Amino acid sequence: MRRRDRTTARRRLLRCDRCDHRYQTVAETRTVAVLAARTNGWIVDRATLCPSCAIAAARLADGRTRTAA
Ligand SMILES: [Zn+2]
Repeated sequence: MRRRDRTTARRRLLRCDRCDHRYQTVAETRTVAVLAARTNGWIVDRATLCPSCAIAAARLADGRTRTAA
């Protein structure tokens, strides 16, 4: 009988690259944790940004494109 161990889920911690914000969740894999963080407004790409820093970064990028245009 195949039985999947429910204890494979463990605590995952993501830290914002720009501030002290952290996102903590319990997930089986880091990918699942990243998807959960993204659902909550985090950007997890090359950089990890909390929702506040993501908005600030987006505004900066928007300002750059506007001044360039
Ligand atoms: Zn942040």
